[in-house]
Amino acid sequence: MNLALLVDHRPVAARFTGRLLESCGYRVVLVPSLDRAVEEARRHVPGVVLCYADLARAEKFPVLRRLRQLLGSHGRVLLLLPAPSRAAAAAAPPAGADDVLREPLTREKLLAALPPVTAGESGLPARLRFWGVRGSIPTPGRSTVRYGGNTSCVEVRAGPEILILDAGTGLRMLGRHLREEFGDRPLSLTILLTHTHWDHIQGLPFFAPLYEPRHRVRILGCKGARRGLRTVLNHQMESPFFPVGLPDLPANVTIEEFPGSTFTLGPVRVTVTRANHPGLCVGYRLTVGNRSLVYLPDNEPHGRKHRLQRHSGAPPSHDTAFVEQADAQLTEFCRGAEVLILDAQYDCQEYQQRVGWGHGCVDDAVGLALAAGVRRLFLFHHDPDHDDAQIDALTAHARALVKAQGGRLHVAAAREGRELVWAPAAGLR
Ligand SMILES: [Zn+2]
Ligand SMILES: [Zn+2]
Repeated sequence: MNLALLVDHRPVAARFTGRLLESCGYRVVLVPSLDRAVEEARRHVPGVVLCYADLARAEKFPVLRRLRQLLGSHGRVLLLLPAPSRAAAAAAPPAGADDVLREPLTREKLLAALPPVTAGESGLPARLRFWGVRGSIPTPGRSTVRYGGNTSCVEVRAGPEILILDAGTGLRMLGRHLREEFGDRPLSLTILLTHTHWDHIQGLPFFAPLYEPRHRVRILGCKGARRGLRTVLNHQMESPFFPVGLPDLPANVTIEEFPGSTFTLGPVRVTVTRANHPGLCVGYRLTVGNRSLVYLPDNEPHGRKHRLQRHSGAPPSHDTAFVEQADAQLTEFCRGAEVLILDAQYDCQEYQQRVGWGHGCVDDAVGLALAAGVRRLFLFHHDPDHDDAQIDALTAHARALVKAQGGRLHVAAAREGRELVWAPAAGLR
């Protein structure tokens, strides 16, 4: 699958592009003319065809469309253009191309356009995509359009596994995307729920794969608050809340509570930890090879809460020893992760009005990521009252905190549609 067919008649440029493709984990077959590309594609079944646009004149479009058909839903046909050209970009879809790249080509541009490499050849496949980044309730509208208004849902690909972290309203668009990508092929999906608050389960009734009998969907989570997970999930789809009951869905759906605090899903080792959030809520650490992603969408750090309670004279929820131990344990849980997706719902002034609500502030998110030696922090579970400009400001504040402490942490606010790909040679892009 990790094979690229490069169609380019220019020897020097083709060598350069070939090396870039190799650095992205692909083996390259070079074809100097489009006429031979279909034959070579049939023989090698590449995951991607990258075609220099001079070869993609209108009379060649039927050949490109044939390639598109041959590659199926997993593969991509990419056109490489010599210079910015609106007309050429507009011609790409009718020509049979999935995407357009412009010279000068860089590894970053390529990685953004290439399909994820699979385990068979590279050893470390992984991809992460945000489908919902909002906390509490969906927030559509002009003021949230850049970061997105859907609630928690993150897709992780690793080898043959498609893992879905939480089933907030972002899950609906993921379902549509899977349909476009895989067509009629049966899918095996695993949904890992952190807890059953609405913003983490409301996408389930609208998840298209649940309505197709060919798919298998495994839902894993901790025991629902006071009742079993199955009972809680059934309830949100019972009449009069929803017209189709969960047991009546055509897909092969299984609902399971965790077998333990550590288990495996294909090549992914999953570790579970308890989060500090009302009811029963957990966070996940997903490890593939020696790289980990930690997902903690709803968590209130104990330390700041404890200090504020003591300062105000309110009785503290826990004693100091417990607080220190719990925060230290969470730091260890996140230790050395490549990516940390973390509750950063408030700024620290807002937090003072929300103590005990189960969410954290940006300052503590940065503090935890720095203490744990994380490489990349995504501020997550954005407050429904925060518009795009406020999220920009919180991100700038977080970056200033990192800089002030001389840290090397990358910080960004999670944004709907943002995708990251682990490349075998150079880590996460
Ligand atoms: Zn939440
Ligand atoms: Zn919650």
